[in-house]
Amino acid sequence: MKRALVTGISGQDGTYLAQLLLSEGYEVFGLVREPDNPALTPVKQLLGDVSFVSGDLTDVGSLLRAIESCQPSEVYNLAAVSHVAYSWQNAGLTTDVTAKGVLNILEAIRSVEGTRTGSIRFYQASSSEMFGKALTSPQNELTAFWPRSPYGVAKAFGHYITINYRESYGMHASNGILFNHESPRRRIEFVTRKIARAVARIHAGLDSGLVLGNLDARRDWGYAPDYVRAMWLMLQQPQGDDFVIASGESHSIRDFVDLAFATVGIREWNSYVSVDESFLRPADIDVLVGDASKARRVLGWVPTKSFEEIVEIMVRHEVDALGSFS
Ligand code: NDP
Ligand code: GDP
Repeated sequence: MKRALVTGISGQDGTYLAQLLLSEGYEVFGLVREPDNPALTPVKQLLGDVSFVSGDLTDVGSLLRAIESCQPSEVYNLAAVSHVAYSWQNAGLTTDVTAKGVLNILEAIRSVEGTRTGSIRFYQASSSEMFGKALTSPQNELTAFWPRSPYGVAKAFGHYITINYRESYGMHASNGILFNHESPRRRIEFVTRKIARAVARIHAGLDSGLVLGNLDARRDWGYAPDYVRAMWLMLQQPQGDDFVIASGESHSIRDFVDLAFATVGIREWNSYVSVDESFLRPADIDVLVGDASKARRVLGWVPTKSFEEIVEIMVRHEVDALGSFS
């Protein structure tokens, strides 16, 4: 039986990836900082057969012990300080975890592999945030990076150190340059989940408004379960490589708001939405749109959900969740 270790297992992607790996017959281990933390109970219930091991991306010794104890053939590094706005307030921590943490885990893998180079395949969660103020559009694997946040800068380090370890030591290491992907499990700090929840609450008469920041920013949004399949496909290739995963469409935050309200039958939403400067960022990314043609060609990857379907899934989930509590 194949064994996989997933860092960031308690996050959106970690849970979907673990479910995919279980369905593919893997023995799955999830790295968490505190395995006995009661906050993990819902994740443990969701992921039944996953074993949890202790480790922190900032502590290379803990990563070494985790990898030695699980003996995985695949390691997926999804752990990160992942929220862009937060990364300005905590740039040092973001760098320690999201940048240096990648080096730590590569070093731990290299040490456990010893002379069996390539026996542990590695996936790094790179991000479209590395493109930032991109000079060309759509962005592909060759587009230059111009990150616009401490998070984007940290991800760029993780990306390049993964390539460097592949080239220097022959490791089977891959970067998935994933554009934004969403689901009902997206953390509430992110704009899609925030909108979906607020729309459901306004519809139910529980809230009277929604306060947002930049409504004109445009993102290329996909569906998280589709995107974790791309991660797995990357590690099934004979060699490590880098792939953009994206839908190829960009929509504004305003478009998302419009569709979300339409899902609950509200067409005139202007009176519910206001803009507060505190949600504006020191630097933002105006527009991102990805070109995933390499992933389609080499991995055979195709997304299954459209933008419209993703918005509807997220809003319906929030409406249903409220229903069960009312
Ligand atoms: P989440 O924010 O939902 O999950 C992040 C995970 O990292 C959590 O499980 C968190 O644990 C864990 N973590 C944070 N700090 C540490 C640490 N020091 N040591 C160990 N674990 C830690 O992210 P997503 O699931 O949305 O994303 C997965 C990865 O993909 C991230 O690296 C993200 O940056 C990247 N990415 C995501 C995109 C998206 O649109 N979702 C797009 C491109 C890249 P805890 O629950 O305890 O906080
Ligand atoms: P990101 O692309 O990883 O930063 O994902 P987010 O969902 O956090 O933000 C996407 C875009 O939405 C950014 O351009 C934000 O500036 C914009 N945005 C507008 N209002 C909000 C808000 O209230 N919260 C968040 N998180 N983003 C917002």
